[in-house]
Amino acid sequence: MTNSPPPPGTSDIMPEEIGVWHFIENAAHKVFRLYGYGEIRTPVLEFTEVFVHGLGSETDVVRKEMYTFKDRGGRDLTLRPEGTAGIIRALCATDIFAGIDKKVYYMGPMFRGERPAAGRKRQFHQIGVENAGRILPEFDAECIFMFMHYLQEIGIEGHSLLMSTRATPEDRKPAEKALKEYYSSHVSGMCEDCKIRFERNIWRILDCKNPQCAPFISETPDMLGYFGDDSRRHFEKVCALLDKMNVKYTVEPRLVRGLDYYVHTVFEVTHPGLGAQNALAGGGRYRIRPSGAKKEVEGIGFAAGMERLVMALQNHASHAQETPFAYIAPLCAEAVLPCMEIAKGLRLGNLSTVAEYEPRSLKSALRAADRLSAKFAIVAGESELEKSLFLCKDMKNGTQKEFPISEIVAQLMSQI
Ligand code: AMP
Repeated sequence: MTNSPPPPGTSDIMPEEIGVWHFIENAAHKVFRLYGYGEIRTPVLEFTEVFVHGLGSETDVVRKEMYTFKDRGGRDLTLRPEGTAGIIRALCATDIFAGIDKKVYYMGPMFRGERPAAGRKRQFHQIGVENAGRILPEFDAECIFMFMHYLQEIGIEGHSLLMSTRATPEDRKPAEKALKEYYSSHVSGMCEDCKIRFERNIWRILDCKNPQCAPFISETPDMLGYFGDDSRRHFEKVCALLDKMNVKYTVEPRLVRGLDYYVHTVFEVTHPGLGAQNALAGGGRYRIRPSGAKKEVEGIGFAAGMERLVMALQNHASHAQETPFAYIAPLCAEAVLPCMEIAKGLRLGNLSTVAEYEPRSLKSALRAADRLSAKFAIVAGESELEKSLFLCKDMKNGTQKEFPISEIVAQLMSQI
């Protein structure tokens, strides 16, 4: 066996592990549709401009983490680091500007050139939603509630919801001034990135994970009090609605989220079972003006890390790989063709079947059926074929019967 792992920060998801992925995906299809969302699939490749413009050129994702390259036609392309910007680009081709909302959900791979660590990958997967075109705080609360509903559906417990507001860009100005004042006397002792953030986008400092900066960040004055009335009212309304819906949360004023497009509500859901990278999902309200569009699109959404959902679920339930109904193997060369015929009949009858087409011994056939946890092992050697029979062994109770080849599919179908 050779050992050639995929590139750092990526992984193979093998059939033995896929059951839990299907489980979280199926629950997403179910729950999000209950709220009127439809699935959208946009390209993994977008023009780089979609992200630079959409996420903000000073965000960590755009500055340091995107997989960007020129294709053979000289186009500037990027492997999507997140879902929202591309989805808004796609929705702008619809009637979104006519005030008609679009509710979509998505799942798929995202790419960020981060330092790989437990729970932090370079290719990871997200399940997310966007409700674009609606500005009422009721939709923020509904969206957050929907994620809580989703977590309940898949059986994740023990998580925490952290809430904050980024206000509107206009309402943020006094807070920005207060931040400048506070950090002007500390920035010299902070990391190099924060020195740049201080000059270019001071809010990003609050997102810094460098331990050197942590003491200064933890003492940051509470910005909520500096925001204007409209922004405060929006946030209070969302919180009041969550209270009404019995959703527990903590207000975390220093939660700013990593991208520039956020306005008003931002939130993060953490889970204690995830270790250092404890964010299960994050989201909020955003305004994006896709390049070329005259107007901004406002929406509310979130994205959950699928690897992290899988990690949080690991201790809860077993999502075993599906096992075949039948394992069929020839014990002599003449039995190969009948095996193929019987396997075809079983599969067309919706019974999953693993077939061998190379003669083997009875012992090794039964061992293989056992290893696959098949319900039935079906075999025939020369003596059975002389009588046009196949031997069927019930792998659970050990009983075995011989059936004529022409009847075997009907006989096994009657066993389910
Ligand atoms: P973000 O919008 O960056 O907060 O991402 C939303 C969610 O995606 C996070 O809460 C994580 O669960 C997941 N996520 C983000 N980046 C990564 C990564 N590099 N590796 C694994 N999961 C990630």
